[in-house]
Amino acid sequence: MSVLALASQAPAPEITAADVVLTGDRPTGPLHLGHYAGSLANRLRLQRLCRQFVLIADLQALTDNAADPGRVSRNVMEVALDYLAIGLDPARSAIVLQSAVPEMAELAMLYLNLVTVARLERNPTVREEIRQRGFARDLPAGFLCYPVSQAADITAVAATLVPVGADQAPMLEQTVEIVRAVNRLAGAAVLPEPRILLSTMPRLPGLDGRGKASKSAGNAIDLRDDSDTVRAKIRRMYTDPGHLRVEDPGKVEGNVVFATLDAFDPDPTAVAELKRRYRAGGLPDVAVKRRLEEVLEALLGPIRERRAQLARDPGEVRAVLRQGTEAARAQAARVLDAVRGVFGLARP
Ligand code: ATP
Ligand code: MG
Repeated sequence: MSVLALASQAPAPEITAADVVLTGDRPTGPLHLGHYAGSLANRLRLQRLCRQFVLIADLQALTDNAADPGRVSRNVMEVALDYLAIGLDPARSAIVLQSAVPEMAELAMLYLNLVTVARLERNPTVREEIRQRGFARDLPAGFLCYPVSQAADITAVAATLVPVGADQAPMLEQTVEIVRAVNRLAGAAVLPEPRILLSTMPRLPGLDGRGKASKSAGNAIDLRDDSDTVRAKIRRMYTDPGHLRVEDPGKVEGNVVFATLDAFDPDPTAVAELKRRYRAGGLPDVAVKRRLEEVLEALLGPIRERRAQLARDPGEVRAVLRQGTEAARAQAARVLDAVRGVFGLARP
């Protein structure tokens, strides 16, 4: 199923109007097609089903970007623009700036007392990220602890549903452990236990076909790219190196153009027919790429237009951020009061 079909899909039975969703992104760069396939399309669906908080996690981004905080602050607005341009509706999806919700930071501070260093070091996703970044004794403590900060974010808005890719499942496990520890301490269900909503979309590969599309690898089509840039990126997309002559049979597996068509082409029958002809031989790469250009232009053209319009009115975008952040703070203040009570903290 393409992500476009997902976004317009009928309500999923396991989600009710009483659910509260928390999701978000680290503002380390503009969002790309991988984000659209992996999470944004699903958020467009979820916002029609229940209340949603979408967090711009700038504090979390600082845990491995403290040497270059400008990278984080610069991208807050970019990510907010991406959200609004794809059609997140601030009336249904509160867009929240993490650093402007001090209640989340205070909750994280309290939760840190419920988690051991050994537990933090066991988190398989964090371990892998530490390895990728080459951290040793210079590992920022904030980075090791970011799953606790995520537990704070999730519980602050009393989220019941957290949509994530499989790599994020350990974060939700950590959150559930913290929720149970708080509730045990309280002797009552002070915090709701959030459920995980696992993404079923395969990872969108990067242009080079070597890994997933990602901001830091610079191998992605960004949502804000103009059509010339998109065309140039499609031109250098990895196809099948064995497909030398048009009449040769081509491979569809591992072919980034087909993977991207699978994700975004609204007509899967047409894609199946293209695959059949490509495998049989006689269909040039350039023909498949032309199809992808059309499909992506249909998706990104309107997004680009809305984004340009919004970018002309940054005051309006800031107002949306402020309102979303206030909504999150109102909820977070109630949760924080309850958790402070569990720890026996009184305000003088
Ligand atoms: P970075 O390179 O800084 O790690 P990134 O491009 O990998 O950035 P993240 O902010 O790490 O983006 O990703 C956040 C979430 O976006 C992921 O957990 C996943 O749900 C989704 N996502 C990112 N890239 C892809 C992709 N290529 N395909 C599908 N989903 C993706
Ligand atoms: Mg990443």
